[in-house]
Amino acid sequence: LIGPLTNVFAGPVIALAQPMMFLALVLSPVEPLARWLADAAHPLLWAFDAVATAGAGVPGGSITVAPTAQAAVCGALFAVALLVACVSRFPARAAGVALASLALVAWSPLTPTASARTELHLIDVGQGDAIALRTTLGHWVLVDAGRIWRGGDAGRATVVPYIAHRGGTLAAFILSHPHDDHVGGAASVLHALHPARYYDAAYTDAGAAYRASLFEARRGGVAWRRVHPGDSLVVDEATITFLGPDSAWVAGLHDANEASAIALVRVGRIRMLLVGDAERGEEAWLLAHARDLLKADVLKVGHHGSSTSSTPEFLAAVSPRIALVSVGAGNTYGHPSAEVMRRLAAAGALVLRTDRLSTVVVGTDGRSLRIEAGGDAWPVAPWVPP
Ligand SMILES: [Zn+2]
Ligand SMILES: [Zn+2]
Repeated sequence: LIGPLTNVFAGPVIALAQPMMFLALVLSPVEPLARWLADAAHPLLWAFDAVATAGAGVPGGSITVAPTAQAAVCGALFAVALLVACVSRFPARAAGVALASLALVAWSPLTPTASARTELHLIDVGQGDAIALRTTLGHWVLVDAGRIWRGGDAGRATVVPYIAHRGGTLAAFILSHPHDDHVGGAASVLHALHPARYYDAAYTDAGAAYRASLFEARRGGVAWRRVHPGDSLVVDEATITFLGPDSAWVAGLHDANEASAIALVRVGRIRMLLVGDAERGEEAWLLAHARDLLKADVLKVGHHGSSTSSTPEFLAAVSPRIALVSVGAGNTYGHPSAEVMRRLAAAGALVLRTDRLSTVVVGTDGRSLRIEAGGDAWPVAPWVPP
């Protein structure tokens, strides 16, 4: 809606950047020259992005649009009807069509489409976590929002389009812990999707991306809640219960990983345990304080499969059927650890990794489990209580 004004600034920038990038593409066989041109275009792209970000920051300046065929047709209809209304001697009817199509574009991302299964989406955000639970009525709960980099973040680049494309609303955002590969995209997600609540374990020694997320929550009127063990959040058929950490445990820590919010998602008989980047210290705390609650069909493996997490004792208590590992291909941390992968396989878990399969979706009707990954879909037998 702010487009005509931002275009005044963005137009000249893109007019310069476009030929430079095209030339760089054409000259790609002459690498030094192409590289020089591409590097030279970088400040222009940065300026272009800055104009777009400033424009999108104006209250009411932008509307969230689901990138679907329906939205594209409605958008085109809006443009044509507006043109007709401008040139016609009887503009009322065309203006009505324009308004109706604009309303449909704005409204369609908010209309949930019902589905038969509750779905846990392990969204591929490279190195980092973004796990989205979708209820059958199209309400979402997002746990973490991926990483941040100079000039962008996974919230804006991946998570928001992913959720907007599927429709429905964000009921709550849960932050496992304030490391940049989890909180990096949070401010963008809060800004674009306006959840009602923001849950956080409140580990205080945190960075700029975390502070930006709190600022955005306050600005957007998102209610911030501290995670307390035993607290539950019910969204349609899904119940999410926090198993940890408690404030006494968090207060004595020097590592945000060990202060990860631990969320147990229950849908019917199916249990899914999300442990953020919890390492062996917090796993031991959980074994001491919530051992009986740890058993789960699906485990979001701690700390991207690092060898500092997933102790044999912890895995024995959880005994997952499906182990989800959110990890960037070729990451410099050496995640996931080969030893942890062996432990998971030995515990009888089917290991699914985002570096190999990209986004993984686990669907459930409360009794059975079904996986969608790498273009395939197949059922997995759940854990059967003894
Ligand atoms: Zn992490
Ligand atoms: Zn971490």
